[in-house]
Amino acid sequence: MAAQQFDLVADRLQIPEEDRARLKFPKRSMVVALPIRRDNGSVEVFSGYRVQHHLTLGPTKGGLRYHPDVALGEVAALAMWMSWKCSLTGLPYGGAKGGIACDPGKLSNSELERLTRRYTQEMIPFIGPQVDIMAPDVGTNEQTMAWMMDTYSTHMGYTVPSIVTGKPVGLGGSLGRRESTGRGVAYLINRAMDVLGFEPAKATAVVQGYGNVGSVAAHSLAKQGLHVIAVSDASGGLLNEKGIDLWKLDEHLKSQKVVTGFSEAQPISNEQLLVTKCDVLVPAALERQITEKNAARIQCRILAEAANGPTTPEADEIIAQRPEIFVIPDILCNAGGVVTSYFEWVQDLQSFFWTETEVMDKLFRILETAFMHTLTMSRKEEISMRLAALSLGIKRVQEAKKMRGLFP
Ligand code: GLU
Repeated sequence: MAAQQFDLVADRLQIPEEDRARLKFPKRSMVVALPIRRDNGSVEVFSGYRVQHHLTLGPTKGGLRYHPDVALGEVAALAMWMSWKCSLTGLPYGGAKGGIACDPGKLSNSELERLTRRYTQEMIPFIGPQVDIMAPDVGTNEQTMAWMMDTYSTHMGYTVPSIVTGKPVGLGGSLGRRESTGRGVAYLINRAMDVLGFEPAKATAVVQGYGNVGSVAAHSLAKQGLHVIAVSDASGGLLNEKGIDLWKLDEHLKSQKVVTGFSEAQPISNEQLLVTKCDVLVPAALERQITEKNAARIQCRILAEAANGPTTPEADEIIAQRPEIFVIPDILCNAGGVVTSYFEWVQDLQSFFWTETEVMDKLFRILETAFMHTLTMSRKEEISMRLAALSLGIKRVQEAKKMRGLFP
């Protein structure tokens, strides 16, 4: 998908053949075997990955994912998307992504700690605050980052907070980092509603994925006055056409850990959730959720891609025939996370910390600029928002490569 999207943009921008390969292929791809001792005394070997897509603009940046489907190809695609995301928002980074093929729900806390520390140890030759900086992604969180930071710091012999972002605030994390992706998603939805001229108080939203991104986005939308009528997680979905009381749902989640079983909504499947009639559809889970099978049936006015790669290129072609749908493409929609990661890295390097208001103010300014540039290009050149966002992202990297020249 990532390569297909790149080719489309390269054709449109008429990027010469010899530049294409330089932009497309990941600079470094690592695969590591991670043996850990399970709690029952046995030894199990997991596969870990890290792909650094390009190093032209600075260190690489991107999340670390723990999920059974993690594989080198998926990580490479996610790394490429990180490159265009960082470039679109003007960050001094190339893209990266890493992961371990595992089901974190089936590992104990101490097994997760051993796995994370082993992965960090194996990655030490390839990472650093000026080389590659990791952050949370699907299946990882602040605790994962704290273990990584501790492992790296122990190896160096001094504390290095800038080796990861998305850490606990008490270890040099940034205020607002945890909420930043979801809040950014809600900010951009609000801007899209302005552009389309509809009122938040009358609008409905459906959120697929109720993890760190989806739940914060849902709450932010509810605070803007939208009715969040359906949500889901890996256990299943919930629908209440009058609007789900998210604060009550949070209480349910505290005891049950999954959204299903919440008494004030009816159960629905993931497939039904995606085609539920609403004003704003927010896929905030995994890749390839909107495909050629359901793209003609989704019923929203704004498709806000909080996940990375939720819409396939085949689905994109179908959505292109449906001008009533306004797409906020993933590399723009969920960029709030990495933008605030950048702020965290800057604060760590300077050992000078900002208030949450400063962080949010700077975040929304960057998102506003990226949104306006994308919208302007999309309208002026009569291309989709995705093509506009990708074009802006790819062009900056291409120009930087050109300025630096080819070594030797
Ligand atoms: N995993 C997040 C993403 O996909 C955040 C990456 C980061 O903060 O470095 O954008």
